[in-house]
Amino acid sequence: MTWTTHTVFNQPHPLSNSNLFLSDTPLSEALQREGAEWDREWLASVGLQLGSAESLELGRLANAEPPELLRYDARGVRLDEVRFHPAWHLLMQGVCASRLHNLSWQPTVREHASVARAARFILHAQVEAGTLCPVTMTHAAIPLLQTYLPAAFEGWLDPLLSDRYDTHAQPGDQKRGLLIGMGMTEKQGGSDLLTTTTRAEPLGARGPGEIYRLTGHKWFFSVPQSDAHLVLAQTPAGLSCFFLPRLLPDGSRNAIQIERLKDKLGNRSNASSEVEFRGATGWLLGEEGEGVRLILKMGGMTRFDCALGSHGQMRRAFSVALYHAHQRQVLGKNLVDQH
Ligand SMILES: Cc1cc2nc3c(=O)[nH]c(=O)nc-3n(C[C@H](O)[C@H](O)[C@H](O)COP(=O)(O)OP(=O)(O)OC[C@H]3O[C@@H](n4cnc5c(N)ncnc54)[C@H](O)[C@@H]3O)c2cc1C
Repeated sequence: MTWTTHTVFNQPHPLSNSNLFLSDTPLSEALQREGAEWDREWLASVGLQLGSAESLELGRLANAEPPELLRYDARGVRLDEVRFHPAWHLLMQGVCASRLHNLSWQPTVREHASVARAARFILHAQVEAGTLCPVTMTHAAIPLLQTYLPAAFEGWLDPLLSDRYDTHAQPGDQKRGLLIGMGMTEKQGGSDLLTTTTRAEPLGARGPGEIYRLTGHKWFFSVPQSDAHLVLAQTPAGLSCFFLPRLLPDGSRNAIQIERLKDKLGNRSNASSEVEFRGATGWLLGEEGEGVRLILKMGGMTRFDCALGSHGQMRRAFSVALYHAHQRQVLGKNLVDQH
């Protein structure tokens, strides 16, 4: 070796171009044990793609170039839109193609589909975590929507189950893929939802499927670009759950104003916002007063995905550390051989 002052040695190669599924024996064994062996081929293919240097770079870019809020256009007209780096959109296409948002709810459900989805989720979590937020919330909302969505939104049920990522600003029944978020947390309370101050007044009749006007705010409203959010608001009977589409059925924007995006420590690629409801239009899901019971069905399911995502990140950290320790030498021995 010719020595120059720029020669770098004993610096391990970065871990890339590995198959995230085939290199994970415990995950492979769990798949078989829990009855989702049928998904092995998909997982091996996605594992190869996700482990590539190109995918890891997309994950880096989506976080290095976080989303930007566009409140107004050049004429001063409110836009309330969020711009993302193209890497975010490519990653979103991937998580939707993997059906992280709806594999469990397909009409012809394969046996143990939630096991297969969990394995896919763990693979994606090793590349980028922010994109898991929209698909987690959508996945958790679908069973509620399948039960409670008012008849006027029946046309949303098919695109909710598609594998397409569709960013067009159109009413849900005109799109090929949909995302759903949830709005509970307010400034004065996140755990303590009973302190919710947002209120809902009926436009006419009150009751399931009826239309209400919502006035108030949410302090943590992730994925504001979602096609709709499930939102908690007070009615005389107590906290109630409302379906707030971003665009109303006639194509006009709902009165949901994005005040700013959160400057977060983690989850930077994903937009989380503070919003004001200035007479926003919402449809009541279930009965008035049933809101916490309903929305916590969704919230509870997202917490399972938090565990899967954490597992994926720990797996990645462990793999990187092990790969490093196999290459890095100290006092003539690899780190992994030191006692
Ligand atoms: C990245 C990110 C995205 C989010 N996206 C959304 C979203 O899309 N929609 C939404 O509605 N919210 C969202 N949130 C908000 C989140 O759900 C709240 O932060 C959470 O509910 C906790 O509320 P808080 O922050 O007000 O904490 P607090 O309610 O003030 O709680 C503070 C601490 O006290 C603990 N605590 C609370 N009650 C008890 C108790 N009874 N006993 C013991 N300990 C207790 C809590 O565990 C917590 O550690 C998001 C948060 C983050 C970080």
